[in-house]
Amino acid sequence: MHKYGDCSFCGGEVKEDRVELDYRYKGSLYIFQNVPSGVCQQCGEKYLIAEVAKKIEHKIQTKEKWEKTISIPVDVFTEGAAV
Ligand SMILES: [Zn+2]
Repeated sequence: MHKYGDCSFCGGEVKEDRVELDYRYKGSLYIFQNVPSGVCQQCGEKYLIAEVAKKIEHKIQTKEKWEKTISIPVDVFTEGAAV
């Protein structure tokens, strides 16, 4: 298990967990499930170690058959300042 430092946002304890991760690569969005990642126990910030990030990019570059592809709704926020 990788040892994570404290959260750089809130200073909380970061523990390893399996998470769902959205990963942007060259303008496309990919979702990976069951990814080992550090998760801050206070604010939920996720911390990927370099080895896992490398594996993810390798999968994106080489994977031919994905588990599934979903469509993602997109909205452009045009409303004024929050009321
Ligand atoms: Zn935190």
